[in-house]
Amino acid sequence: MSEEFPKCPQCEVNTHVILINTAQKVGTVAGGVTGAACGYVGAEAGTIAGAAIGSVVPVIGTGIGAMAGGLAGAVAGFFAGAATGNAVGKKVDVEVIGKYRCNRCGEEFEG
Ligand SMILES: [Zn+2]
Repeated sequence: MSEEFPKCPQCEVNTHVILINTAQKVGTVAGGVTGAACGYVGAEAGTIAGAAIGSVVPVIGTGIGAMAGGLAGAVAGFFAGAATGNAVGKKVDVEVIGKYRCNRCGEEFEG
């Protein structure tokens, strides 16, 4: 990770400058939750598959298939959503908010 940060207006170096990544954190959480919800809904397909197995092995297959499908979908959705939210949030931080902090002098400034 080597990113170009703007120079601190006080110190005139960027060696202690960090991006204030508010939107990235929010985006990661929001994306994860949304992704989990969507993944769970998408995993209705898993429920149907489970039900198909259930028709061969009644009751057990339906229950396990539905649970596994829903859970796997939610987990996969969470990670996919979190990754997307993280990327989108970071973009917002850099391009929309663009706020930086210098850890050397404590100055906060816009990039
Ligand atoms: Zn500074």
